[in-house]
Amino acid sequence: MNSMDTPKKLIQLSKEDLLSAINGLKDVSYTVSPNFNDNAPGPGDNIIKRFMFPQPEPLLFLEREGKDMVHRPYCVISKSSLNPDDDTSHHTISDTVAETIILGIRPCDARSLWLNRLACEEDNLFSRRVDGLIIFGLLCNKGLSTCFCEDVGGGHQDVRGMDVAMIDDGDGELRLWAVSKKGLYILNRLGIYEDDIIDGLMEGATDNSHEKVGDCSLLDELMSKDMLTLYNAPFWQDIKDSCLNCGACTFLCPTCYCFDIQDEAYGKVGRRIRYWDSCMFPLFTLHASGHNPRGEKIYRVRNRFMHKFKYFIERFSHISCVGCGRCIIHCPVNIDVREVIGLMRAVS
Ligand code: SF4
Ligand code: SF4
Repeated sequence: MNSMDTPKKLIQLSKEDLLSAINGLKDVSYTVSPNFNDNAPGPGDNIIKRFMFPQPEPLLFLEREGKDMVHRPYCVISKSSLNPDDDTSHHTISDTVAETIILGIRPCDARSLWLNRLACEEDNLFSRRVDGLIIFGLLCNKGLSTCFCEDVGGGHQDVRGMDVAMIDDGDGELRLWAVSKKGLYILNRLGIYEDDIIDGLMEGATDNSHEKVGDCSLLDELMSKDMLTLYNAPFWQDIKDSCLNCGACTFLCPTCYCFDIQDEAYGKVGRRIRYWDSCMFPLFTLHASGHNPRGEKIYRVRNRFMHKFKYFIERFSHISCVGCGRCIIHCPVNIDVREVIGLMRAVS
């Protein structure tokens, strides 16, 4: 389903005016996707994952008190950026949920947020961060040849996961409208909607809940496949022969969220940190005993695709891929996830 909700009230204003209104808000930080500035087609390399799963992320501050090592929450206030070149940005944990506007992410990335929430809802840090988000999504006028969001249940004009939807016609002017109650609230705070029309608008606004399910024939098809038959399919061998296990696909993927936790000690103090990890790496599943259930490359390669297109579906009734195409663009040996999906579909 491409849920292009009927706008109840279309607003037209320039990017500069929107930015200046947001700049005037107190107690709301914001972060801008490069898409907002240049309106380049496709999702771009900068991913919402950098914000949602900071890299690295301090979890605890450790300090020796007498004979005991005590731990305290790592408490620094968040200031974040989707721009990796912005070295003033840092990502930290706050006990209070700050509101953060994300400005200009594409429908695929907005959708990745509620997909990840299915798997990560018990992750307090992720949940608090996502609860504090106000998403100004930028709909796509056209995609790249590597985009396939519609095949996996999304769409160029899909507003799910957004609070405010925006269209940039390329002339610096935006058309935007609220698609959630939170979106109405923020547009009201920005002074873009008048108070006296808010009540009427509320009727049309929805919650940007991850519970919403879109029609997707691929989902139905993959759901009907036998798990073991897919697992034992011979084509995994060919994919394994090509794959370098470099992990680029998983690090770029907005729906990959695996991590590793490490403790670092410096004399009497230390910290517990989590880092992104990848199921493509041999150490990812290495047990302390030395046993490794995915010690061979074929197991790791197969796991990446089975997780997204079978295991996740079995558990959450959604495909864990938003069709952004980043893994297709950046795989050094041209492994194309669309071709792998085709091979999985052909298994009978
Ligand atoms: S980017 Fe390509 S080569 Fe690297 S791990 Fe992913 S599929 Fe394998
Ligand atoms: S698997 Fe590839 S196309 Fe799908 S969401 Fe991840 S990076 Fe994007």
